Amino acid sequence: MFPAFTLRYARLPEHFFVRFDPVPVPAPRLVAFNRPLAEELGFDLMRLDEARLAEWFSGNAVPQGAEPVAQAYAGHQFGHFNPRLGDGRAVLLGEVTDREGRLRDIQLKGAGMTPFSRGADGRAPLGPVLREYLVSEAMHRLGVPTTRALAAVTSGERVFRRVPEPGAVLTRVAASHLRVGTFQYFAARDDREAVRTLADMAIERHYSALTPELTPELAKGERYLALLEAVSQRQAALVAKWMGLGFIHGVMNTDNCTISGETIDYGPCAFMEAYSPTMVFSSIDEQGRYAYQNQPWLAQWNLARLAETLIPLLHDDQERAVELATEVIKRYESLYEAQWLKTMREKLALKREEEGDRELAEAFLEILAAGRADFTLGFRRLSEAVEADASGLAELFENDRALQEWLPRWRERLAREDVPGEAISARMRAVNPLYIPRNHQVERVIAAAAEHDDFTPFEALRQVLAEPFTEQPGHEAYAQPAPPTERVFRTFC
Ligand code: AMP
Ligand code: MG
Ligand code: MG
Repeated sequence: MFPAFTLRYARLPEHFFVRFDPVPVPAPRLVAFNRPLAEELGFDLMRLDEARLAEWFSGNAVPQGAEPVAQAYAGHQFGHFNPRLGDGRAVLLGEVTDREGRLRDIQLKGAGMTPFSRGADGRAPLGPVLREYLVSEAMHRLGVPTTRALAAVTSGERVFRRVPEPGAVLTRVAASHLRVGTFQYFAARDDREAVRTLADMAIERHYSALTPELTPELAKGERYLALLEAVSQRQAALVAKWMGLGFIHGVMNTDNCTISGETIDYGPCAFMEAYSPTMVFSSIDEQGRYAYQNQPWLAQWNLARLAETLIPLLHDDQERAVELATEVIKRYESLYEAQWLKTMREKLALKREEEGDRELAEAFLEILAAGRADFTLGFRRLSEAVEADASGLAELFENDRALQEWLPRWRERLAREDVPGEAISARMRAVNPLYIPRNHQVERVIAAAAEHDDFTPFEALRQVLAEPFTEQPGHEAYAQPAPPTERVFRTFC
């Protein structure tokens, strides 16, 4: 049995979606299944068999109680507004209530051509499905809010991208699929009631428990202003986490910006190796709009687009409404700065808060950048350099002079933490991962699966990434940057 569906979204007025049954595939085969997540969602694991799972998660069998829909949304793509995007290849089966009582969306991605497909094939190649599976689950284990991956199924069908590839379907689980672009879809149609409906749904699903001030007694306008502020807070926290991990999302279009504050859409995303703030991987990001260092400000840009959709709900006096919304969007800057500093303090084991902390962190980042040192290993090996031995860290640099000058400053600061060195190291190991999904590892996994139908590398990487902070003997290679011949410079959607 599939856990019971709630159908919150499919019960909205008909213009919020298009009813659409997944298009069956010829030969579904389950290649990955996330048992801990399934358990969390209320699946009875004892009674599941693989054939059944393959039927459900390919879309060949619609589980009882589901009412599949393709959701409508718009979006700014690289700054240009498209009033009608929508789920071109995904269907929402419905929502289930997880063990903690939270509603979670269950969506099949790659489920066939929907009315929103705009000429594309509605399918997903195995490579991107495995990438999203690995990276989204890794992000979860790294402590980043994210959509999750419940299952991956190969379809038995080829899809054509640059070359023919095996087709696949990913089952994605999200707190919801409400996006900035969902609000924009209705705002662009002057449908104020629909925007209000979405805002109320967002408050109910994502912000009721956390923000007691968002009660219906509040004057309506204040309620929506508080929603904007709350989304802004979550986005600030989210992007600060990305920055702390060297993660580059790659396509921060407004349709890929969730209201829940979860990371969504693992297309051309990548974790940086050699640290460079201007780094861009995505082959379609020719202007470098979504470069690593731009991410905090692009999130703010997206929030401003959300604010525009809410203006009519904020105040009867439009000028006043604009003023109120602008204040919230401006405030994002200090929210983000505070979140970033919090992240950096954690990474450098600074629990007390001191004036010079920001500068100390910035100086370390400058040293990493100047040496083009590996971002992940740079912080991880710093945890070994708390007292004296900085040799592992120094190895990352051709010239370690600046590093050797910086270390005493940091150690002096650590002395005021008043905890033993080993405790500092342990603190750092708990937030600075040893294992991240390195691009070349993900590419190896994809090549083995797509070209040789071999999923053992996938399983191995998945297991390593399940414990990103724990040293795993025998798996040293997973912690290493790509060898020169395997370096990834470009990623594709
Ligand atoms: P993305 O760049 O992944 O956020 O996707 C942007 C839009 O393109 C969304 O509306 C997707 O549903 C749609 N899309 C992407 N790939 C396909 C595909 N193969 N078939 C149909 N629609 C697609
Ligand atoms: Mg998308
Ligand atoms: Mg995508």
